[in-house]
Amino acid sequence: MGFDSFIGNASAVATVRKILRSGRIPGAMLFAGPDGVGKKTLAMMLAKGLVCEKNQGDFCGECRRCRKAEEMIALGREDLARRREIKEAARRVEGLVYFDLQLIEPITSYILTEQIRQLRNVAYTCPFEFPRRVFIVDDAQAIHWQAIDVLLKVLEEPPDTTTLILVCPNAYELRPTIRSRCFRLAFQPVDEGSILALLAQDKRLTKPQQALAARVAAGSVAQAKAFDLADYQRRRQPWLDFLESVLRVAPGGRDPAPWSSLFDAAKALAENREDFDRTLRIGFSLLRDVLQLREPGGDKEVMNVDLVARLKTWAAGSSLEDLECLKAGLDRAYRLQIRNVNQQLGFEELGIDVVTGRKSTLTQTG
Ligand SMILES: [Zn+2]
Repeated sequence: MGFDSFIGNASAVATVRKILRSGRIPGAMLFAGPDGVGKKTLAMMLAKGLVCEKNQGDFCGECRRCRKAEEMIALGREDLARRREIKEAARRVEGLVYFDLQLIEPITSYILTEQIRQLRNVAYTCPFEFPRRVFIVDDAQAIHWQAIDVLLKVLEEPPDTTTLILVCPNAYELRPTIRSRCFRLAFQPVDEGSILALLAQDKRLTKPQQALAARVAAGSVAQAKAFDLADYQRRRQPWLDFLESVLRVAPGGRDPAPWSSLFDAAKALAENREDFDRTLRIGFSLLRDVLQLREPGGDKEVMNVDLVARLKTWAAGSSLEDLECLKAGLDRAYRLQIRNVNQQLGFEELGIDVVTGRKSTLTQTG
């Protein structure tokens, strides 16, 4: 336990530790950076560091107060989940109670005015169980515009007894007046080495699979932890079948056009209409990989690291024109998804165009 267990963003962690050691705790902080890198986790660690009975400048996770802090976070989460289920808008914010450590998140697509009003009401009062209150406002960019002035009032006169931590992906989504009143901590995507070290603990994944998971996670610890190999492979398989049919290379030229496998793959691709966006991104990643593998040393950046040998064969046998045509086809599928059309025909046509060399129409009209 303690800050040593935090993965990545060493300079943010160092700053938090320094703040704790100095005892000068800012009234308002802003944790900004990409999703999944642990902004909220570090905010909660800071909160524990402020109250821990054992470790100064750190936290143990075991003492009475550390456990109490966990409990407060859990209760706050339960409360938010319950409120999100309430149909009647006015009743969603009825009877808000904030603990000394409180997680504040959007109840609807917004953090509602009443949530921020309650924050202001409590911020200036004495903490109840802890030496200091910490309010963590996650997705701070979602604070309802009508609540911004209320929040600004609190930031203008920061309370002595409360620290506000605003958490958001991009600081520039917040008003400059809010930004300028917060002590800002910038987070970066986590380096691949740290993510690989984390994934190495997952014994269900082989080394190449860990490498794949790290690439897919793209700097997000949360994504690395949530990586589901079976799901990824299930989504990827129809792409492999499709591209294999389209880019298949035989000694001395193309195989005879593999129509039936091409049509089967097109059908499978179009079938997955739920979460089509995620499926499409896998298609894009495979194309990008093939494109990169055409260059010497291109395998360093490849996403589907577990398939390098196979992708290299495709790279060697496909022309730039083939790949551009496929890319244009995927772009078109991406645009069409909002209209929720069945894309099977589109993928079939795309495959035929590449196999028969009839690409000009597609790349031109997109
Ligand atoms: Zn403790």
